[in-house]
Order: sequence, then C-alpha cells, then structure tokens
Amino acid sequence: MTSLIAPRVTEIAPGVAVRRALPTRALRTVGAWCFLDHFGPVQGEGMRRFSIGPHPHIGLQTATWLIAGELLHRDSIGSVQRIRAGELNLMTAGKGIAHSELLGPDAQQLHGLQFWIALPDARRHDAPSFEHHATLPRWREGDVEFCLFVGALAGRASPATVHTPLLGLDVHATASATLRLPLDPSFEHALYLVSGTVQIEGTSVPPEHLWSLPAGPETLHVEVTQDARFVLLGGRPFDQPLLTWWNFVARDPAEIEAARDDWEHGRQFGVVADGGEPIKAPPLDLKLRAPSR
Ligand code: MN
Repeated sequence: MTSLIAPRVTEIAPGVAVRRALPTRALRTVGAWCFLDHFGPVQGEGMRRFSIGPHPHIGLQTATWLIAGELLHRDSIGSVQRIRAGELNLMTAGKGIAHSELLGPDAQQLHGLQFWIALPDARRHDAPSFEHHATLPRWREGDVEFCLFVGALAGRASPATVHTPLLGLDVHATASATLRLPLDPSFEHALYLVSGTVQIEGTSVPPEHLWSLPAGPETLHVEVTQDARFVLLGGRPFDQPLLTWWNFVARDPAEIEAARDDWEHGRQFGVVADGGEPIKAPPLDLKLRAPSR
C-alpha cells in the first residue's frame, strides 16, 4: 500500500532543526536507504549552525546532496572536498570513519539533503573510503531536468559505488509536466518532495513529505507543477535488521556500545585534520533494544 509520510522535525545540534523523513515510525527503510534529513534553505548567520564538527560513523554510507550552497567535507582518511549543488559526496564508513561537514567559504545559502545507506553484512566491516562525483548522468526532457546520482535508469548509470541495488534520482521541473518514470519492479520506492507540488496517481503530495510505494509497479506517473523538485529513492528491500543510534548503523546493542566507547576514547576512527572540535557522543541513556526484524 502506498503511504504519505510527514517528516518529523528534529535537532541535529542544539537549535539546529532538520526535517527527518527517514527513518519514521511508518517507514524505516527504502531499500538500503535508511536515513533522510532535509536541511535549510537557510541564509546568513543561520548557516553557521550547520557546520558540524568531527563525528564518527559505522556501518553506512553518507550521501550528501546539496540543492544550494556549499559544504566542506573533511574526513579521517585524509579527504578534503568542497561539496556544491548537484555533486554527490559519498563517504563509506565501513568499520569506522570520522568526518566534519563545515560550511563552505563561498556559501550564500544552504539547502540540501543527507542520506544514509545501510551497508550489507558482507561490506559493513570493510575499510572506510570516500568518493566525490561532480559528473553525473544529467538529462532534460522538455522542461524537466533529471540527475541520476545513484543506480541505473533507462540505460544510464551513476558512477557512485553502492553495495546493494539502489536508485537515487533528482528531478526538477521548470514548468508543469507529466512524467512517466520507469521503475524496477523488484524495488520499493519513495518520493521525497523538496518543494512545489506533485500529484502521483491522483494523490497530492505536499512539500516536505515522503510518498512511499511498495515493490511491484513498472512505471510511475507523476504530475509536477512549475518549480517542483523531488528525489526518487528506490532499492531492493533490505533484509538485514538494523539498529541505528546516533551516527552508527549496526545490528545489535553491543556493537553500538563498542563504537561509542571507541569514539569517546579516541580509538578506531582516526582524526579529522582541521575539522574543528570533535563532537562528544550523547549518553547511552536509552536501553538499546535489538531490532525486531
Ligand atoms: Mn556525518
């Protein structure tokens, strides 16, 4: 059954609110896509609060996708990379990496999405790695611009390295249009509407909402209005249980506790040169429970 999901507003740091569309109680994952934060648009001094100092990750890939502005990525394997709108920043944490995400020197505004992609068991203990893709498949159909940042669609393929079958497509309409998008019927999908309005199979999706679609259909009809922008995510249903706490994606509480302990004691994650003051892990105040599936 399809569903329409409102993101919850949550703080990534004191006073820094984002819309979190994944995970929610209604929907935990779309394929291996396991996290979606929408931040901004923000201008002026408010942008500074989105500079996030060094913090650790395990078990996931972070995919940063800016709509406007600029961030500066630094990580503990030595990567230093400016991130601009329309470029894919893809960090694979594997067994552990730390990074900082600071406001870029030329940013006039900041607006973007950050996704996490859960790594499968076979890859989640790999060494960390980093990719940046400024060149991605981009095309235009009438008044609609497409950019394929992850996966394959209609004979095109993103160069981004992912470890389970996934799709990530950015769509921006400069005028009203009716789109007919081919789907992989083995994928579940979700459409996150960043701005504007869309109608999908007769359902109106309000801005900043996620519309999800189980596996099965081979096409998706979307009516977009002028200046609508959305991302379409897809993936083969992820069949491994996930336990997510703070910046860690794991399988059981012991792994989370060990990763937190390593970070607090300066082990395993390395150092982010010039990244600023490392962020302390929150207390493990919740009793972590193993996931139910
Ligand atoms: Mn991060």
